[in-house]
Amino acid sequence: MALPSSCDVLIAGGGPCGLMLANELGRRGIRVLLVDEKPGTAFNPQANATQARTMEHFRRLGFADEIRALGLPPDYPTDIAYFTRYAGHELARFQLPAAQEAKRRARESGSSWSTPELPHRVSQKYVEAILRRKAAALPGVLLQYGWRLKAFVDRGDRIDATVENVADGTVREVTAAYLVGADGARSMVRAQLGIRYGGETGVQRDFMGGRMYAIYLRAPDFYAAAGKAPAWMNVTFNPQRRAFMAAVDGKGEFAFHTQLRPGEDEASVTEAEARAMFHAACGKQIDLEILSRGSWTAGHALVADSFGRGRVLLGGDAVHLFTPTGGLGYNTAVEDAVNLGWKLAAVLHGVAAPALLASYEAERRPLALRNTGYARGFADSLGLFLVDPEIEADTAAGAAARRTAGEYLEGHARREFNIPGITFGGRYDSSPAILGDGTAPPEDAANLYIPSACPGGRPPHLWLDGDVSLFDRFGFGWTLLQLGAGSDFTDGMATAARRLHLDLTCVALDSVQARDLYGADYVLIRPDHIVAWRGAGTADPAGILRRLLGHLE
Ligand SMILES: Cc1cc2nc3c(=O)[nH]c(=O)nc-3n(C[C@H](O)[C@H](O)[C@H](O)COP(=O)(O)OP(=O)(O)OC[C@H]3O[C@@H](n4cnc5c(N)ncnc54)[C@H](O)[C@@H]3O)c2cc1C
Repeated sequence: MALPSSCDVLIAGGGPCGLMLANELGRRGIRVLLVDEKPGTAFNPQANATQARTMEHFRRLGFADEIRALGLPPDYPTDIAYFTRYAGHELARFQLPAAQEAKRRARESGSSWSTPELPHRVSQKYVEAILRRKAAALPGVLLQYGWRLKAFVDRGDRIDATVENVADGTVREVTAAYLVGADGARSMVRAQLGIRYGGETGVQRDFMGGRMYAIYLRAPDFYAAAGKAPAWMNVTFNPQRRAFMAAVDGKGEFAFHTQLRPGEDEASVTEAEARAMFHAACGKQIDLEILSRGSWTAGHALVADSFGRGRVLLGGDAVHLFTPTGGLGYNTAVEDAVNLGWKLAAVLHGVAAPALLASYEAERRPLALRNTGYARGFADSLGLFLVDPEIEADTAAGAAARRTAGEYLEGHARREFNIPGITFGGRYDSSPAILGDGTAPPEDAANLYIPSACPGGRPPHLWLDGDVSLFDRFGFGWTLLQLGAGSDFTDGMATAARRLHLDLTCVALDSVQARDLYGADYVLIRPDHIVAWRGAGTADPAGILRRLLGHLE
């Protein structure tokens, strides 16, 4: 297909960040060209966990159920299990429900997990395929895999870019209003802007700190041969071969990752040595077929000094690099795209002032610092917990070591894998695109989420009739919740929105529970499902919208 010579937004990178952004923009009528140098979406599994907040965004876009149907079979347990070796002693198991229970459990969950969408354990490779298909179906969105961004110049009023076909070297010039670098950890866009990562790197730990070796493998007999019940995440804890392994399809495909020991050189690992690594983790010869191999570094907690410059913006791994404990890298990348999508569209449609774009970095950079910090804490908790050399011994000392490790690992699993506070509690308090009301937000805690409509955070969730979530009533653009007795304010806000060409849905709810939960008669919710303002019907609707859209008075 011929490449267009111009578009509104050129996206470099078709991983989760770029693809989600293409969906957000395309749904808002923006002309998008996305280029990715790979031939298609990821073959390797990469991320394994889709957090509840990300699932809520997939629901907002209408395809959460399709995503939930992917990955592990519906009845497959999503436990996190710890073993000395896979065929050795089971030390601890944190039991979590299978996907088929997610809907029922979400209906029953209490305040910390009050959500229409619980987390879902699914490999990134499956999610990317859906995001690609959904984006490709949108008019105005063109996804070109096999093309790389080669160069760009910010002319002040536009971007002039050069893209190159990876296979045959064909070069095309493209003009865009904005360029987004969603081009991953080695981002050429970030490098060309001269923006550096800050933070922590090269941290050494007994596990999850140093070079890691990844093997994507097929071992259909794994659980039968190991003599263990299936789990989503399988972690080994022994002195020779610490590893984690996520079930990918529930039919025998796994993503196995082990920390390289001193003296092991990733560049020279042969296929036989890779197999030996897996067998050492199993403590037994279990048949396997290797699908792919590679290496990566654990021990990053890096955030870029800036999230863009001029007409160029950056998102995803291009601006934050995680150690994957907690499963936050891809989820943070998706939320960058959600945040940026509506803002770019509003500026391109002339609804918002370009100044609104400054709120992207003001909101997402603190979030990236927060999330990388949480991930680092989990990596310390797991990776600095050392293995007792006796742990595999058939002795009283061995049994005691296993008991101690089991108790610790069970506690660790509850801290790392039950994180409503991280997933729902992210806030944008100091953003220019939030109008605070002087109230204090709840404290930020990994394992506890306290619902609050204090402006700057996720709106609290509520079930309405049947399976209808309050979030389902929100519009795709902005939403005004009217929770008190009627006044002229709703009409005033609707009129102000019309004058600004802003897409606003007004939802009146006669619910004491909702009024109590939100703590105000009126609540204004942004397109990314963040409370922007709350207050009484005496406020000035036009003034509120103009300030939130960056039109400085
Ligand atoms: C072992 C492991 C486990 C993980 N587990 C989790 C987890 O459970 N949960 C979680 O949230 N995260 C996890 N992550 C992290 C997650 O995989 C990344 O954070 C995520 O892929 C970031 O998405 P992205 O779109 O920003 O970047 P990427 O996925 O890296 O995509 C960037 C894309 O840009 C393309 N590109 C690069 N340069 C150019 C160019 N010049 N022109 C065009 N295209 C270009 C690349 O081909 C690539 O497709 C894990 C990571 C690892 C290594």
